[in-house]
Amino acid sequence: MSEGARPDHHRFGGFISQRSQQRLLDTLRAKGIRNEDVLETFAKIPRHEFVEEALRSRAYEDTALPIGYQQTISQPYVVALMTQLLLTGRERLKRVLEIGTGSGFQTAVLSRVSARVFSIERIGALAGRAYQKLGSLGIENVSLRHGDGANGWSAKGPFDGIILTAAPRRVPDTLFSQLSDQGVLVAPEGSNRQQRLLYWIKQDGIALRHQSIDVVFVPLKSGQA
Ligand code: SAH
Repeated sequence: MSEGARPDHHRFGGFISQRSQQRLLDTLRAKGIRNEDVLETFAKIPRHEFVEEALRSRAYEDTALPIGYQQTISQPYVVALMTQLLLTGRERLKRVLEIGTGSGFQTAVLSRVSARVFSIERIGALAGRAYQKLGSLGIENVSLRHGDGANGWSAKGPFDGIILTAAPRRVPDTLFSQLSDQGVLVAPEGSNRQQRLLYWIKQDGIALRHQSIDVVFVPLKSGQA
């Protein structure tokens, strides 16, 4: 195809999306994402499928976008960083718990680095939409639940990775009890406007805390909607 005859920006699945996806990969690399397995997931998962039609042309920008219900699909760099941290020292995971399914994009990323993924979303309409989307993309190793994720999902644990995509002031203790030994928990922690991305590695029953970057996430809320 000649330079002058590009398909329009809304024809996804084609030339433009591949090119903007490639550009996003370059951005993630430039920002320090080194894990090739993580980068590979970003090359494989169509992020434009997880945002509404009107925002599709922006799906491969490195930015958070609204998904309705005052929630957002997380910034790609943050999704990549959290996944890289979750994998710390491991090539693949067996069982991951995600709290805050949202659009399901992070869930789809996790489904490629973990044998099983369990994800909880408190807003029923988002949980339903993510269920449809993941199904339509043929992703089968994910179990979704509509509910308050603050108490985890003990019946399915222990997990070798737990990830929160909404920010609590303090990560609830019960989540650490569902983390297996050598497991990693990744979460933003802080006030509504300002949070620090933290990760804990559990060793001999003790979770050691490490700090990453400053982030802005929607707050972890209690109850379901
Ligand atoms: N990873 C998602 C992030 C969505 S925003 C994505 O990229 O699309 C965070 C999500 O966490 C929101 O959908 C919000 O409804 C959900 N959430 C907030 N508190 C929750 C809780 N206690 N339990 C489960 N989900 C929660």
